[in-house]
Amino acid sequence: MQLTEATLEQHWMPFTNNREFKREPRMFVRAAGMYYWNQQGGKVLDGSSGLFTTAAGHCRPEIAKAVNEQLQTLDFTPSFLRGHSGAFELANAVAELTPKHLDHVFFCNSGSEAVDTAIKIAFAYHLAHKEAQRTYLISRERAYHGVNMGGTALSGMVKNREAFGAVMPGVLHLRHTLLPENRFTRGMGEKGVELADDLLRFVQLVGEKRIAAVFVEPIAGSTGVIVPPRGYLQRIREICDRYGILLVFDEVICGFGRTGDSFAASSFGVTPDMITMAKALTNGAQPMGAVAVRDSIYRTIVDSAPDGAPEFFHGYTYSAHPAACAAAIATLKIYETERLFAKGRELAPYFLDELFGLRDLPVVADVRGFGLLAGVEIKPGAAPGLRGTELQAKLFDRGLHVKTTGDVAIIAPAFIATRAEIDQLTAILRDALKEY
Ligand code: PLP
Repeated sequence: MQLTEATLEQHWMPFTNNREFKREPRMFVRAAGMYYWNQQGGKVLDGSSGLFTTAAGHCRPEIAKAVNEQLQTLDFTPSFLRGHSGAFELANAVAELTPKHLDHVFFCNSGSEAVDTAIKIAFAYHLAHKEAQRTYLISRERAYHGVNMGGTALSGMVKNREAFGAVMPGVLHLRHTLLPENRFTRGMGEKGVELADDLLRFVQLVGEKRIAAVFVEPIAGSTGVIVPPRGYLQRIREICDRYGILLVFDEVICGFGRTGDSFAASSFGVTPDMITMAKALTNGAQPMGAVAVRDSIYRTIVDSAPDGAPEFFHGYTYSAHPAACAAAIATLKIYETERLFAKGRELAPYFLDELFGLRDLPVVADVRGFGLLAGVEIKPGAAPGLRGTELQAKLFDRGLHVKTTGDVAIIAPAFIATRAEIDQLTAILRDALKEY
């Protein structure tokens, strides 16, 4: 099909300025390893693993083969009342990677669905153990928990909320932890642990037994990489324990090696009651999300239901889709056989050194990072976000794909990256940033 301005109109692109894109489309036509190719045949280094998805590099033949074979053997299984072995194999493989006791896995098709599923599990759990009065949810300013209705209500990013009304009442937001005192800190900042006590204030505000769950991204990714202050997650965990509140880590970006371990829960030494995940679960090759749930939550919901009916009235037609399971099983095998989480961990100090090296540029307002995830924030132009948008276009035209949010470039290379590719990435960034 010949793509012209007219034929580009029908696809309403998500989180995109459609008018701008359709005037000047920036398309990809092919990908392999660390690179994309654009429609002019130019090679583009992938600095954000697609959208934090493609941690093992693009177009892995092992994944393509597994999906192809699956689609020729068993293309679809009804997800309610019927099963297929891949779903169980994958749930076991995921449970091997999650912290101890988070051994039950509910599958869905995206990070947004994982978040909304976790909200419903939290409410179902409290109902099952006779605390249905726990109707409040706690999130944080600057949080991103996807775009479904629950995730929109949890959102702490104004543009993701303001057009959509009060989608769900009863959500309170802790203050974010992006503090000027922690600017240019590698890893966890020393300041800000006391911000966790906002949760105590909410307990005092709404009542000791009114909060169902707290949702936290261990590192807030989409908002521009906010690494938690030292001790912050531990303190949130302690308060949750004291008041019977469930703690949910949204690891849609952090999960599967981004912080150097299977999950950020392990990197930060804090075990939540649920973990939401998606993205790198299938290396981005198939849409899939999941929620890992603590044994006691699963048992309470399942054992308190009457015989003969579903215990949890929730699920998707495509929950544990056979092709997505095949992709995820193949992906987890690659992570294991190539020791990719360890490789990412080993590369991280070099990666952070290089990115923190950009701080001498006048336009750079902050650099933050942990593992293979870093944010480079630039001083705003005429209005917040304008420079960020301009920057990602400049980078693309120089051969680097990077996700930006507002005025922050979010860098998250695949774990297969070499030092030479990190050098190339920072050189292109430097070259573009120098223009300001
Ligand atoms: N939660 C977090 C922490 C995310 O970063 C994202 C996406 O970036 C989501 C949820 C939503 O995931 P999806 O876009 O797959 O719905």
